[in-house]
Amino acid sequence: MKIGIFGGSFNPLHYGHLRAAEEVEQKFMLDKIIFIPANAVSNKNEILLAPEKRLEMINIAIKNNKKFESSDIEIKRGGFSYSYDTAIQLQKIYPGGELYFIVGTDAFCDIKNWKKGDEIFDIINFIVVSRNDARAGADIKNLIKFAGFLPDKFKEAIGMDYSQNKIITLKNKFIYFLKITRLDISSTSLRNNFKNNISNLFLLPNEVINYIINNKLYK
Ligand code: ATP
Ligand code: MG
Repeated sequence: MKIGIFGGSFNPLHYGHLRAAEEVEQKFMLDKIIFIPANAVSNKNEILLAPEKRLEMINIAIKNNKKFESSDIEIKRGGFSYSYDTAIQLQKIYPGGELYFIVGTDAFCDIKNWKKGDEIFDIINFIVVSRNDARAGADIKNLIKFAGFLPDKFKEAIGMDYSQNKIITLKNKFIYFLKITRLDISSTSLRNNFKNNISNLFLLPNEVINYIINNKLYK
């Protein structure tokens, strides 16, 4: 089974996330994609909305999509959420499953600040999707330069198929870089809009907008 793992704060989930998941699912013929909201993140200063509410918004948004699921494993673990721990846990849950972490270019280029950021490529495949920044136009070769420490790490990588925007590491894991439809949406801008009573229509699903308004979130 091929499973996409999409982690993030999802504060709130928006069409940028959903469209990225859709394009990855199609391109890599995944059996499913699991959205996993972080319980708490160490790399953001702001306090996140309660994780149960962020999970609820994901569930509202994906309820009619057969291939999209959510998971509360990071919430249940508590504390700061680290992708490395999630990868290890998921490998136990899905023995024999082919797991792909989905991350945007911004998250990928920050990977040197992740827990075990260098080891994580030995244990799990990555699909990096383009986002609305300078790196989005890069190819995989330039992208790994943007990420800083990675060129060293992959000097000995066995397969550097730049034309395919793909790297195969010594541990036979993959990193793919996929250019996707550019949707210049961020949760930060959505939160600001909600706070200032500016419309967010067509930036995230209507039912999620209603949930946010009814529960007076982001005020
Ligand atoms: P915030 O502004 O609070 O950081 P965000 O919009 O960046 O929110 P996150 O929850 O931080 O959303 O992102 C989760 C993952 O989704 C990250 O890997 C991020 O790169 C990716 N992502 C977020 N928005 C987009 C988008 N519009 N297009 C492609 N990828 C995205
Ligand atoms: Mg972000």
